[in-house]
Amino acid sequence: MELKELYQEIILDHGKNPRNKGKCNSFNSDAKGHNPLCGDKVHIFLKLDDKKKVEDVSFEGEGCAISLASASILTETIKGKEYNNANLIIKDFLNLIKYEKKITINSLSEDQKTSIMSLSGVKNFPMRIKCATMAWHTLTSALKKYMDNLKNKIIEEIKKIYDP
Ligand code: ZN
Repeated sequence: MELKELYQEIILDHGKNPRNKGKCNSFNSDAKGHNPLCGDKVHIFLKLDDKKKVEDVSFEGEGCAISLASASILTETIKGKEYNNANLIIKDFLNLIKYEKKITINSLSEDQKTSIMSLSGVKNFPMRIKCATMAWHTLTSALKKYMDNLKNKIIEEIKKIYDP
């Protein structure tokens, strides 16, 4: 099988049977994304544990096959990854899609790399780049929201100590 065909098969499979769809149990952050160019919508749910590891991640969404496949592949790639590592993977993914840079992260399995690479074909279709990147930008927002909430909680705790 040619690489191009393998990539097409992966996208079709994830588009038709998205993994980790729905709200995951006791999520503690979430974010919504929208791609008006194509009408794609995504809502990412994240559960980080107290060591800032992604214990669970899922999504709800509707849109084209690329956007669904991308969100599905994202959940399989990010689950189990630590916060900083998750951010590096997002950066790597966006560099791959937008600038055709090589994947530098070594915490990914070969299967995960292949799944991510399957989306790299969109670089030849500039209108579809947003379809492939939307879920990943939305994940960035969800991770940031978690950190902001955590910081606010810490500030509240400090306030209680110094200004009861
Ligand atoms: Zn789309």
